[in-house]
This record gives sequence, C-alpha cells and structure tokens, in this order.
Amino acid sequence: ASTRIPLMAGNWKMNLNHQEALVLVQKLAVTLADKKHDYGKVEVVVVPPFTDLRSVQTLVDGDRLEIKYGAQDVSPHDAGAYTGEISAAMLAKLGCDYVVVGHSERRQYHAEDDALVAAKAVKALAAGIVPIVCVGEGLDIRQAGEHVPHCIGQTVGSLAGFTPEQVAGLVIAYEPVWAIGTGEVATPEDAQEVCQAIRAQVKESYGEAAADGVRILYGGSVKAANVAGIMAQADVDGCLVGGASLQVDEFGGICRYY
Ligand code: PEP
Repeated sequence: ASTRIPLMAGNWKMNLNHQEALVLVQKLAVTLADKKHDYGKVEVVVVPPFTDLRSVQTLVDGDRLEIKYGAQDVSPHDAGAYTGEISAAMLAKLGCDYVVVGHSERRQYHAEDDALVAAKAVKALAAGIVPIVCVGEGLDIRQAGEHVPHCIGQTVGSLAGFTPEQVAGLVIAYEPVWAIGTGEVATPEDAQEVCQAIRAQVKESYGEAAADGVRILYGGSVKAANVAGIMAQADVDGCLVGGASLQVDEFGGICRYY
C-alpha cells in the first residue's frame, strides 16, 4: 500500500486583502479543529500572495498551527538584477514548505515553458522547498483527445534533469485548464486517467520508488461536494484548489473529505 499522505493546497491567487488573509488562516484552523481534522492524515497548505507570507508565518509559528504554507511562484535565479522576482532562498527564509510552479495562469499569461518551470522547480528543491509542478491541457487539446500525451510531455519537460530521489519527494498537479475557475469539474475518471498516466511515466523515467513517492494532485473546480469522488481515485493524492480555498467552509470541507 502507498504511504503517500494526501495533500490539500489552497491557491489564493491574487485575492484577499492582508487582514482577510490572516482571518482566513485563523478561521481555517478553527474550522478544522471543529471538524476534528487529523493533520497527520491530510496535509493542509495555503498558498497566499507573496505580500501575506511574512504575516502568515508569524501566525502559524505563533499559534503553532499545523497548517503549512507556500508561495505561488519562484524565480529561476538565485539573486541579482531581476526586478520583481522572489528567490527560493527568500521563500525558505519565510518558512515556505511548498511553491507552485508552472500554474496554467503563469504558462498562459507569462509564457512560461517547461524548461523555465523545471528551472524554477530545481531552485525550489535546492532551497528545501517542495515544488508543486502544474501540468494540464486546454479545451482544444482535450477535445482532440490529446490530453494524455500533452500532459505526459509537460511532465517530462518540467522534470527534465531531476534525480529519482528528487522526483519521489515532489508534487505534480494535474489541472485541466478548461476546469479551472469554470465550475466545470473533470469527472473522477478523467482525473484518474491522467494522474495514472503521469505516474506511469514517472515510473518509466525515474523508477518505481519515484512513482510510488511522488504525489499527484487534481485541480479544477474542486469543492467540498465533489472532492470525495476525486479522492477515491487510486492515483489522485490530493487537490490543488483555487476559488473554493477562499471560502473557509468549502476548503475546510475539502480538507476533511475523509
Ligand atoms: C487553480 O487555479 O489551481 C484551480 C484549481 O482553480 P479553481 O479551483 O478555482 O478551479
């Protein structure tokens, strides 16, 4: 049996003001306590904007919350003349355990390709931060029936040069672009089809231990009402949640899906 611990990550994107951000973390902790959530059973991660990270760190450390946090992006460079960028070392200093790389919004609006995503993930790993590497197909590719090879291609490209040990410890998020923020959730079978294919590719490229260790998330209009069917799939190890992670009851319900 797999020892992979399910992971629920809430990507807040560019939402909430500073106070709302802190209230959300506090309310999430209270809600999960009410729901008798077992953090050993499901890891809970919030992914706020950069500007909230220091305060989230203070809150989490001060109240000894078991909620973890991460960032939405990271620079592929260590330091230097890169105006506007945030390095992995900076995120590590802020106590980030995770960082999202290659989200479809970054790939689409900032023209990020697989090589850049891989470079960012490498920097995260070097700083002791687990990258959540996002892949996923657009509607045209899905309709053409090319979604599996497309996602396999993105996975291979975004993990180029990684060691099997590195792959075993990271997180891949399968997020069909047509299901992000649309309310159009993939069926559990759709999610399983691609997550299984990704794991099979990881096995082929990096071996059995890497395939067994890597956690593969599904993302795209996940809500408390549809999470159970998705989590019942053998190769889905958690969810990357956008919109619903801004609502404490929804995200609390997603984390307490079991
Ligand atoms: C996301 O952007 O990662 C996402 C899954 O968004 P939503 O849950 O809103 O579809």
